[in-house]
Amino acid sequence: MNVLLVEDENRVADFIRRGLKAEGWMVEHAVDGETALELLQQRRFDVIILDLVLPGISGQDVCQRLRARRILTPVLMLTALDATDERIAGLRIGADDYLPKPFSFEELVARLDALHRRAHDFSAQATNEVLRHDGIVFNRSSLLLTVDGAEVELSAKERELVTLLLSNEKKVLSRERILSAVWSAQEDPLTNVVDVYIARLRKKLTPYGHLIATVRGAGYRFG
Ligand code: CA
Repeated sequence: MNVLLVEDENRVADFIRRGLKAEGWMVEHAVDGETALELLQQRRFDVIILDLVLPGISGQDVCQRLRARRILTPVLMLTALDATDERIAGLRIGADDYLPKPFSFEELVARLDALHRRAHDFSAQATNEVLRHDGIVFNRSSLLLTVDGAEVELSAKERELVTLLLSNEKKVLSRERILSAVWSAQEDPLTNVVDVYIARLRKKLTPYGHLIATVRGAGYRFG
């Protein structure tokens, strides 16, 4: 993980930098907002630790300017203890989280991990918003399925099933796995609901229905 640390107090900066390096993270240190903004123009960071009180432009201004430049790197703002107004203002201008000083190193790491994970999940979701294979296109946000450009109506369960299949291309999915993903684990394992829905979906995906292959004794495989 690549961290940009914006902090003018050397004692605090050293404490954070040494700790994060020991965790195996890369840390770039900027002592003021101008330097931080310059670095952000040149390089990509996974997360930014931004002190609120800095010489020159404040942490708030840095945050505002980088959001204005569409730099969406998660920001953890360091604030004074009990500075509720500052925290609210910080979150409003685009900081993702805040941590009051003094803080424990463990808490800092936990917050950074959470921010990084959240940002990562979000971008993974965004890139997977549209699932496609041959002429099949399923948009996970509009829930619209088209086959060769023509819209196909799906029930809620069919949508879940198509999502599961399209996002697990070339993998064998057992009936149990499909059952617990789309229906519930409580469903009677002897039910033939999966087979019924697969048959229905094959018809709806014509002429690509054959892409849902039956793998004898194992389940189904898409693609
Ligand atoms: Ca400071």
